[in-house]
Amino acid sequence: MNSLSPPPLLCLTAVSRRFKTGDALISVLDNISLSIKAGEMVAIVGPSGSGKSTLMNILGCLDTPSSGHYQVDGQDVEQLNSDQRAGLRRERFGFIFQRYHLIPSLSVRENIEIPARYAHQSRQLRLDHARRLLDRLGMQGYEDRNVRRLSGGQQQRVSIARALINGGEVILADEPTGALDSRSGSEVMQLLQSLHQQGHTVIIITHDAKVADYAERIIHLADGKIVSDLPNDGDSDNKITEKSPQQFVTTSHYCANNRGWRTRWHEYQDAFGSAGRSLAAHRLRSCLTLLGIVIGIVSVVSLNAAGAGARQYVLDTLSSLGGNVVTLYPGKGYGDDQAASIHSLRDRDLSVLAQQRWITAATPNVSTNLRIRRQRTDINATVNGVSAEFMAIGNMNLLQGRSLLPRDITQQSSVVVVGESLKDKLFPRGSNPLGEIILVGTLPAKIVGVARSGSLSGGNTLNLWLPWSTATSRLLGQDWFDSIAVSLPESVSAETAKSTINRMLTRLHGRQDFYMLDSAAFVNSVEKTSFALSLFLSLIALISLLVGGIGVMNIMLVSVSERTRETGIRMAVGARRWDIQRQFLTEAVLLCLSGALVGVTLSLVLGISLSWLIHPWQLIFSLPAILTAVGCAVLVGVISGWLPAWQAAKLDPAEALTRE
Ligand code: ADP
Ligand code: MG
Repeated sequence: MNSLSPPPLLCLTAVSRRFKTGDALISVLDNISLSIKAGEMVAIVGPSGSGKSTLMNILGCLDTPSSGHYQVDGQDVEQLNSDQRAGLRRERFGFIFQRYHLIPSLSVRENIEIPARYAHQSRQLRLDHARRLLDRLGMQGYEDRNVRRLSGGQQQRVSIARALINGGEVILADEPTGALDSRSGSEVMQLLQSLHQQGHTVIIITHDAKVADYAERIIHLADGKIVSDLPNDGDSDNKITEKSPQQFVTTSHYCANNRGWRTRWHEYQDAFGSAGRSLAAHRLRSCLTLLGIVIGIVSVVSLNAAGAGARQYVLDTLSSLGGNVVTLYPGKGYGDDQAASIHSLRDRDLSVLAQQRWITAATPNVSTNLRIRRQRTDINATVNGVSAEFMAIGNMNLLQGRSLLPRDITQQSSVVVVGESLKDKLFPRGSNPLGEIILVGTLPAKIVGVARSGSLSGGNTLNLWLPWSTATSRLLGQDWFDSIAVSLPESVSAETAKSTINRMLTRLHGRQDFYMLDSAAFVNSVEKTSFALSLFLSLIALISLLVGGIGVMNIMLVSVSERTRETGIRMAVGARRWDIQRQFLTEAVLLCLSGALVGVTLSLVLGISLSWLIHPWQLIFSLPAILTAVGCAVLVGVISGWLPAWQAAKLDPAEALTRE
């Protein structure tokens, strides 16, 4: 090569392009060698089907040759990966298509800005450039117009602006006037020619000799081969010989990767903004998909809150039973078969326990079911033999009269305290029960008090309490207890109490023939059960969220295939794979995130209204649970958006562009 002439900007060496259609391999470009210098204006002419568009795709790095080499500015294109080729398209090429290939959902300015966005230009810079280009192209004031409302000539000018926003060093125009009337066509050609004068390399593909005449060099293509490559020295009036200095090609606008946080923030804002707009474009579809996520989130949040509320309810009820109580039972442990025949808890145990200063109170319990009779009423009730302290230990309220007294125990008195429900049965007309005599089994006893049990079941079952001494000797004829309840002050933990009692009584009995349960252990078991329950509920809720996620994935897949051409356009103007992926991912995440927000709001409303209806059982919403649910929704968005995004990103740009 002559050292004086500049090296070619674009250089094809023996390039062929073959396509596989079914079993056949058709050769569209055959052994093409061609070099184009910077600043040339070239027309590639040929009949329809001769391979012009295929050649342009290769020149514009939208497609790669099947064989042969293509160099851009000395760089082998075959050695570049798809993102590097996207970089070349973004930074050096500008495409103009016969059908404009604008994105219809975007405004004029947004269409022009696309390549600049992918080049990470700051918002302000982009805006300035777009405005300046529109001014130059005679379209000032059209920035915010919808591109669908423009005439063909205007749309083509918008696409020229888009080709120029990143510099547009090489303009590739495929039949730029093909869809235009002759006046707009010649306007576009004059524009291209003035770009050429300003130093851009312009390559025009056409089947129209009049269009080709604007170029200074004409290459004829037929059946994938170059048949002639000649300077255009025809006597055209279009010829401009004098070149003015380059104006459009400014120093590169595209910036490096170390862009500031503000630019990045704007990028995310833009990404969410455009995702929102494309979701809004299919409102009904988006809403239906959203519904799946909303249902999922409502079930996650509400089931969680209901679980937490139920647990709190049980715990509250338990704590109303009197906090720190240890209960001793005969036998080896909970569910011991022999327990009924083991009579290890007796009077002496009670006296030993009662002597301990660290024990607040101790009461034995013997209970049995007996008939209770008064006048013509005869009902079955639970009869409990207890000590004077049973009120405090059982967390009971005295409603009328008095409680049992220590002297009732020592004297084995025939006095009883009746439960509220039992009193209502025995005295249906509400007469005063105090001092009345009733028959407990066969024992006549005087009612001295009425009490309400604070326990869960105590409220509804029929209960009466009498001195344990009376119960054991005069009713049951037994000298052992069914259980002994020990109440402890706050300062003594159930664990230490249990181990001390265990030591004392084991020594007394000579072996361990009893076991203990404490309310804390019960609370623990409730917590364990409620944890298992809420895990189960969460699982169900997560499944519904998953179903919602599948809905999102489905709609995103549809969206990807509907927008194949848009994706092709974005790729042509320089989107990286990740840019495309991010676009679809953002949409999926936005869909799920809005579903989550609607879902959380709905759950709160639902929870508040339910709490009004079912009073004691409140739904408890916790911030961590809500945040977890929202986090899950975002995760579902990412997961369900991944496959569609990946499918979109692996599209072939040249092929995607031709899809309708
Ligand atoms: P032109 O732009 O000159 O009209 P094209 O380059 O578009 O011609 O196409 C040339 C030939 O290559 C056509 O016959 C077309 O059917 C074929 N062709 C182009 N692209 C493909 C493809 N992706 N797969 C199969 N055949 C293709
Ligand atoms: Mg074509």
